[in-house]
Amino acid sequence: MDDIEILDQALTFHGHRCWASTAGVRIGLAAIRALGVKRAGAKELHAVIEIGDHHGGMCFGDGIQFTTGCTFGKGNIEKSGEGKFAVTLFDKASGRAVRVAYRPTLQPRIGATPFMRKRAAGVPASQIPDEEQLEVVHLVWDAPEDDVMTIGPVDARDWSEPEEVVRFVVCPSCGELVAEPYARVADGRVVCGACSGYPR
Ligand SMILES: [Zn+2]
Ligand SMILES: [Zn+2]
Repeated sequence: MDDIEILDQALTFHGHRCWASTAGVRIGLAAIRALGVKRAGAKELHAVIEIGDHHGGMCFGDGIQFTTGCTFGKGNIEKSGEGKFAVTLFDKASGRAVRVAYRPTLQPRIGATPFMRKRAAGVPASQIPDEEQLEVVHLVWDAPEDDVMTIGPVDARDWSEPEEVVRFVVCPSCGELVAEPYARVADGRVVCGACSGYPR
């Protein structure tokens, strides 16, 4: 699959065309190429993306998931919650990682497009005409690499996952199964979080 097909499929998966998902596709591809690895089929790679919650541009995460194969379903991606547009990709086999960050050189031009003006006025991306969606995609896709990203050094960094806890307890209050690390002690009994009444 060439890059333009990857972009096309990623945007189909994403559901609309936008600058942040396009940036995610370019940056995800750059990260796997910097490491010299293939898209993860299982858990060969692990990604930490710096986006947070409830902010614009989180679409970045879909471009990263599609291109790196690090997905929330496989559990080999996580958000660090910093509200930023960067990814650190770990190759577990070689113990190396690279951080690639979006570079906002184009942001004034992106902000001036009809697409972004409509988004700022609260129009959902999916209701904006195709040609206006494509305008922002091409701004980001056709720009020189140096204008849209900073590729950090590839350095030695291991990704080690916490060991999986496979023990469960049956909550005496609701009778449901809860993984041990999530059980709470309330009134001297070991119960599930919901039955404990404690805030999460
Ligand atoms: Zn989007
Ligand atoms: Zn319970």
